[in-house]
Amino acid sequence: MDCIFCKIRDRKIPKEFTYEDEDVMVFPDIHPLKPIHLLIVPKVHTEDYLEFNDLELMAKVKKVINKMIEEKMENKGYRVSINGGGAQVVRHVHFHLMGPVSNME
Ligand code: AMP
Ligand code: ZN
Repeated sequence: MDCIFCKIRDRKIPKEFTYEDEDVMVFPDIHPLKPIHLLIVPKVHTEDYLEFNDLELMAKVKKVINKMIEEKMENKGYRVSINGGGAQVVRHVHFHLMGPVSNME
């Protein structure tokens, strides 16, 4: 399987993590769409969001997303998004956290 996020997880591609624990890793998007653009990535390989049904892991992911919002977004507007169903380029479930974003965007 040729998955770039698995390679990052396995340290086959060097990457500085913003956050890491045994289940979740966070690193900056290589092509940021906003001044802060982080990818929150469960370490286990799941291709599509719809197949990502481990609710215990989902709860851990939410905790990490919350932590990143609290630590990085400085009370500014933010967006969390998921591409799936073929809209994703990298076929390993991940959550985009972007900001600052206003309510006009
Ligand atoms: P998606 O369209 O949701 O699959 O988004 C995949 C994201 O991964 C894109 O925003 C890419 O810029 C980002 N990306 C791809 N390769 C890397 C990498 N090696 N390091 C960090 N971000 C990456
Ligand atoms: Zn993967």
